[in-house]
Amino acid sequence: MRKLFDRISYFWITVIETLLRFFPFPAKTGMVKIGSPDSNSPVFLTCNFQLTVRRVKRALKGIDCYLLVANTRGINVWCAATGGHLNNHSVISVIKTSGIEEKVDHKKIILPQLAAPGVESKVIKKKTSWEVLWGPVDIKDIKEFLENNFTKSEQMHKVTFPLTERIEMAIMWAFPLSVFLSLIWIPFFIDELLALWMQVWGISLMTFIFYPIFEPILLLEKRQKKYAFFGWSKLLILIFISSFSLLGTVIYTIILNSFEPWLFARWCIFSLIVSIIIVIDLTGTTPLFKSDTHGDKVFTIKVDAEKCKGTSICLSVCPRNCFEMSEERNLAIFKHEQDCVQCSACIVQCPFDAIQFEDQKGNILTPETVRKFKLNLSGKRTIRGNQS
Ligand code: SF4
Ligand code: SF4
Repeated sequence: MRKLFDRISYFWITVIETLLRFFPFPAKTGMVKIGSPDSNSPVFLTCNFQLTVRRVKRALKGIDCYLLVANTRGINVWCAATGGHLNNHSVISVIKTSGIEEKVDHKKIILPQLAAPGVESKVIKKKTSWEVLWGPVDIKDIKEFLENNFTKSEQMHKVTFPLTERIEMAIMWAFPLSVFLSLIWIPFFIDELLALWMQVWGISLMTFIFYPIFEPILLLEKRQKKYAFFGWSKLLILIFISSFSLLGTVIYTIILNSFEPWLFARWCIFSLIVSIIIVIDLTGTTPLFKSDTHGDKVFTIKVDAEKCKGTSICLSVCPRNCFEMSEERNLAIFKHEQDCVQCSACIVQCPFDAIQFEDQKGNILTPETVRKFKLNLSGKRTIRGNQS
């Protein structure tokens, strides 16, 4: 009975938190015991975004371990790490204050790989003597990661955008957008609310379910290396989505048997606006591209062959598998430039500062700068008031 109740409450809390995923949802920070851990049990760390904490606890079921929940202001791991909310301080703070040091005899902590842009393993080691091990990107791989003695297969350190995540992303957009637009619509067209919700949810679900069709189009434009905030690839996607939405509007008016030019025009404009809102930064809403709100600063990665000592740490933290090791020399090669999402994990983690960003004019963004200045909400790096 208790198990059934847990499952039902997990389901409903997940539904509610998915609907409100757009907003930070802070969970309690500190140490959580899972199973019956002892002094040799593994220690994991995650962010304090409610949904993530629940999923991590669920994935860790059956493993006797400790989970440290760090304060990231209720933001998920990757966004918090790139935005500076999951940082050295939040990790050090939870290690020092949770009481974990009295519970275990070892000093090894497993962090999600997507925390790598924000947390410097070198600093954690220096300030706490704890060694950071980078876990898999997806928590579902955690058991395999432990069984393989903390090693990751190539698939374990690559981000993907599967259907379940795409649907979550669609819901994340659709729910707040339909609530917000309903508030505007109610005073004027209260009897059209159902149509409004159908439009918003339809457009949002269509954008993310059909995403695998759009990805090659976005890639094609990216290969041209010409920055455009709303380029031809997004325009094509917009036309595709709006046409479907238009078709829906026609069917809707036929069903109601009430074709009125003004009603039809109103819904066309409405669906166009909703499509633009969702498509405008489609790249930034997926983990497979960098956000277009970065402006025209397209950085590439430069590896200094003199400084590289072949530790392969960059390979293990890159969520897009952009690096390969050269066969002749123990040296990292930046091989897949098109896949780079400029998350900066490789730069932050390289122990020899052998990696840096370079923009199209040849300006360098040093590791020191990247570590110091994180991305703001619209994906820009702000350095002393200037955007870099
Ligand atoms: S670039 Fe840095 S992290 Fe990558 S292999 Fe070389 S030394 Fe290691
Ligand atoms: S190569 Fe690009 S995607 Fe990979 S870790 Fe570095 S910045 Fe991130």
